[in-house]
Amino acid sequence: MARYLITSALPYINGIKHLGNLVGSQLPADLIARYLRARGHEVLFLCATDEHGTPAELAAAKAGQPVEAFCAQMHEVQAGIAAGFRLSFDHFGRSSSPQNRALTQHFAGKLAENGYIEEVSERQVFSIADNRFLPDRYIEGTCPNCGYDKARGDQCENCTKQLDPTDLIDPRSAISGSTDLEVRETKHLFLRQSALRGELQAWIDSKTDWPILTTSIAKKWLNDGDGLQDRGITRDLYWGVPVKKGDQDWPGMEGKVFYVWFDAPIEYIACAAEWAEANGKTDADWERWWRTDKGADDVTYLQFMGKDNVPFHTLSFPATQIGSQEPWKMVDYIKSFNYLNYDGGQFSTSQGRGIFMDQALSILPSDYWRWWLLSHAPESSDSEFTWENFQGSVNKDLADVLGNLVSRVTKFCRAKFGEVVPAGGQTGPREAELIAELTTRLRAYEGNMQAMEVRKAATELRAIWVAGNEYLQSAAPWTVIKTDPETAEAMVRLALNLIRLYAVVSRPFIPDAAQSMMDAMGCDDWSWPEDVGAALATLPAGHAFTVPDVTFRKITDEERAEWQTRFAGIRT
Ligand SMILES: [Zn+2]
Repeated sequence: MARYLITSALPYINGIKHLGNLVGSQLPADLIARYLRARGHEVLFLCATDEHGTPAELAAAKAGQPVEAFCAQMHEVQAGIAAGFRLSFDHFGRSSSPQNRALTQHFAGKLAENGYIEEVSERQVFSIADNRFLPDRYIEGTCPNCGYDKARGDQCENCTKQLDPTDLIDPRSAISGSTDLEVRETKHLFLRQSALRGELQAWIDSKTDWPILTTSIAKKWLNDGDGLQDRGITRDLYWGVPVKKGDQDWPGMEGKVFYVWFDAPIEYIACAAEWAEANGKTDADWERWWRTDKGADDVTYLQFMGKDNVPFHTLSFPATQIGSQEPWKMVDYIKSFNYLNYDGGQFSTSQGRGIFMDQALSILPSDYWRWWLLSHAPESSDSEFTWENFQGSVNKDLADVLGNLVSRVTKFCRAKFGEVVPAGGQTGPREAELIAELTTRLRAYEGNMQAMEVRKAATELRAIWVAGNEYLQSAAPWTVIKTDPETAEAMVRLALNLIRLYAVVSRPFIPDAAQSMMDAMGCDDWSWPEDVGAALATLPAGHAFTVPDVTFRKITDEERAEWQTRFAGIRT
C-alpha cells in the first residue's frame, strides 16, 4: 500500500466550466484517484476554486455583488456541479481561505529572507476618480499597434499584442470610464526566478519519466529568449491575499495584494490544511502529506492540468517551494492534456460555445459524459467532441455492450432459474478461456491506469466488456438450457459474477452505473479481482440478486439533432 497525493488544476471562480476544462484536469484526476483507492492505496485528492484576481472582481461588479459574496456563491455552484459529475475530492477548498492567506504570506516571508524577492518601483496608471491604480484589465484604450479602441491594459483582443497599461493611447478606467488618469510610481515585489534557474533546471532534468508534452513546455520557458524571467507577484488590487512578510507588515506594500498566480498553487497545500480542519484533524495530519520532514517522504504527488497551466506548475510554483528552503513535498509526476475541441471549432467560455458542465448534467447522467470524455481524452494530441461520435460511443460501448450484458443475463436468469444465483453444473474450457483473456486484459488495464494512460485504459476496459459479451454469445445458455440445463446454470452463475467484476473494474470510469450493478447483485464486495477465476466465484449459488433498471439507454437520432442545434450557438 502506497500513499498518493493528487491535485487537479484549480478551476477559476468566475463561471461554470465547459467539458473541455473538465477532461483536461478534474476528471482524469478523479479517475486515477478512484483507481488507486480501489487498489487499496491511501489517497488524498484535493481541488479548490481559484478565487483571486481581476476577473473575479469584474465578474462580481457585473453581477452587482461584493466580490466576497460572489465568490462564496460561485464556489457553492461549482461544488454542486463537481458532485454531479461524481468528482471524489477529499476536499474542495477555496484559495481565499484563511489557511491559504497565512501560507502565502509565509512563503513570501521565507522567499524574502532567502534573498529571492526584489522590490521594484514601477510607473503605473492611477485613476483619480476611482482613487486606485488600474492594473491589467482595469484599464482600456486604443491599441498602439492596430488602432482597436477597446484594447485592455494587458492585451489587445483584436491583434493579440501583449500590452502594458502605459502603452494604451487615450486610456480610460474600465471601472468608471474616467479619463482623469495619471502615471504614478508604485512599488512591487518580484520573485527572482532567474536566480533559481539552475536549481529548477536540475530538478526538471531529473524528471526523466515525465511526458514530453510537460518537459518540452517547461524547457521552452526555461531556455527560450533571455531565459526564465523574474516575475511580479504583487498587484494594486482589493481582492487578494494582503502582502505581508510572514505575519509581519511589509513596509511600502500597504494596500497591495499578492498576484493570483502566486497564491493559487499554494492553495494546493492550504487545501490540505482546510481538509484537516473540516474533518477534525490536526496539523500533523495534513503535514504528513506535504512536509518531507513530517512524513511526506513516502508520498507520490501527482498533478493534473491542461497544457496552458504547465509553466506555472513546472517553474513558478516549484520556484516558490525551492526558494523557501523548507522541505515541502514537490510534484513527482505532471499529467498534462491537450485541448478538446467542439464540433468543428473550439470550446469557448468567453463566447459561450460548447457544452458547459451544468448543461451536460441537465440532459444526461454523469456516467455518459465521463465515459465519452475519458475514452477520448486529449492526451497525445487535441481531440474533438462531435455529437455523432458521442451518440455512437454511448450507444455502442455503454448500451449495446455493457448495458446489454447486464440486462440479458439478469432477465434470462430470472425467467429460467429465479432471482438467485443458480447452483447446477460445472464450467469448462470455454470459461477457462474467458478467464485467461480477462486476466490478460485486466493486467494491461492495471498497467495503463498506473501509467495514467487514460485512453488506453478505456480501450482495455471496453475490451474487457466485449470479451464477456462474446463469451455469452458463443456459450448461448438460452440454447444450451434446452438440452443441458445444468451447464446453462453454470454459465449463468459465471455471468452474474461477471457483472460484479465489471462493477469493480469499471467504477473509476462510471461510478454510478457500477454502484447500481453492484446493488443489483445484492453485494458490497468491491475487492479488486487480483485472481479473475476466484473473483468469478464470489457470488455463491443461492445468492439473491435483482434485475436492475436499464443501465444505459441509447441516444436517439432526434435527441442528437436537437442537442446539436441547442448547443451550436451562444450560451444565454
Ligand atoms: Zn491591437
